Amino acid sequence: MRKIALVNQKGGVGKTTTAVHLAAGLAELGKKVLLIDLDPQANATLSFGLHHNPERPSAYSVLIGKTDVEETIQPLTEMLSILPSSIDLAGVDMELSNEIGRERVLSDKLDEISGFDFVLVDCPPSLGLISVNALTFVDEIHIPVQCEFFALHGLSLLMRTIDLVKRRLNPTLEITGVIACMYDGRRSLARETSSELDNFFQDKVFKTKIRTNVRLAEAPSHGKTVFEYAPDSYGSQDYRNLAREVAGLPLEQPTPVVEETAPTTPVPGHEPEVTESVVEEKTAAPDTTEIPVVESGKEALPVTESNEETKIETEQKAPPPVTPVPGKEEEKVETENSGPNLPATVRPAVEL
Ligand code: ATP
Ligand code: MG
Repeated sequence: MRKIALVNQKGGVGKTTTAVHLAAGLAELGKKVLLIDLDPQANATLSFGLHHNPERPSAYSVLIGKTDVEETIQPLTEMLSILPSSIDLAGVDMELSNEIGRERVLSDKLDEISGFDFVLVDCPPSLGLISVNALTFVDEIHIPVQCEFFALHGLSLLMRTIDLVKRRLNPTLEITGVIACMYDGRRSLARETSSELDNFFQDKVFKTKIRTNVRLAEAPSHGKTVFEYAPDSYGSQDYRNLAREVAGLPLEQPTPVVEETAPTTPVPGHEPEVTESVVEEKTAAPDTTEIPVVESGKEALPVTESNEETKIETEQKAPPPVTPVPGKEEEKVETENSGPNLPATVRPAVEL
């Protein structure tokens, strides 16, 4: 049984979208999968059409010992089950603060689970007690990274926290995957961020990049995965490929790399995503006004086709690339130790 946490304390980078679609993609490949939603926002739970219900047994009720894990796991399909979240999880840091071994509560409670090939954990955007519990429970970490400016900012804090948990709580913990999310190959910034990731994480970066695709943003509002909602979309192709890579199967079709000087007239075989969206618009024609509002504090996302155009136009005004500025030797020392152009290390959110 492989236990993998999707972790990045930065908000809105694609953790939940990846957790949901990796879980569903692995299930499609015939793997038995459990998805644990540890985020009080419950976005993964909602993505499967399970609405907020304070009465429903959840990861929270398991953590506080109110319900048994077996009775709390809900089957979604034959191959896929979920341990749903609840808003009450938001207070669990406080509730467990005086508990002895509070970092191991999840691990203890889930000790008994068996019969799954994969257990995926969707973490909240923080490095608080919930995330530390997830890191203590799993063996593997996959880090989704949004291919944008500041994408690498904060990764040194994440690496330091992972290192502390590994040394003090869970020696088997390893980063086994880095996922480039919301990748738009027409933008030089996205390509630069992606190559910074390759330089630092090397073969841990999955070959499959998850392209920006409006269908991925729309699917949760229909309570469906993108595989059900828009099976032929880029989002669906990319997450199918990612699931194959995670499962160790050969890729069907790698993510195409688009050059910066891509012509505005589509070249056969290199059509920009806009083309696909237009085609889909004619066939699937879901109302894009139903797209859920991006939560506060997050960067607005390019979820409409018209925004796609704006995004290309703004490329020239994009902020400078993330490569180190000459003269910033201090940053370079840190880079050599802990990553490319990573910001100064800060203390983790939880004392370990
Ligand atoms: P949080 O930190 O709040 O839990 P997160 O890291 O889980 O956020 P998601 O919720 O997966 O991030 O994604 C943030 C938003 O971006 C969502 O509205 C989601 O639908 C959208 N999104 C994610 N991936 C893509 C993509 N490849 N293309 C377009 N939109 C995307
Ligand atoms: Mg999330």
